[in-house]
Amino acid sequence: MYLIVVCSGCGRLLVANMKANSRRCPYCGVRVKLAKAKRVGGAKTAREASELAQRLKQRRHEENSSIGFSQ
Ligand SMILES: [Zn+2]
Repeated sequence: MYLIVVCSGCGRLLVANMKANSRRCPYCGVRVKLAKAKRVGGAKTAREASELAQRLKQRRHEENSSIGFSQ
């Protein structure tokens, strides 16, 4: 299981393995703790999670507002 979380440093979306405790943001270098991070989605595989993150980024850009994610 993979999670899509919001970086606490720069606000970008990161894909992280749920088994990990934390994930270092490739953009700003902040270590994001998964237990505290804001989760916006999840997927079974890294590939699915990556694709979902891309869609969420596009949607956020198109709507120009915060993500209303219900899961
Ligand atoms: Zn970041």
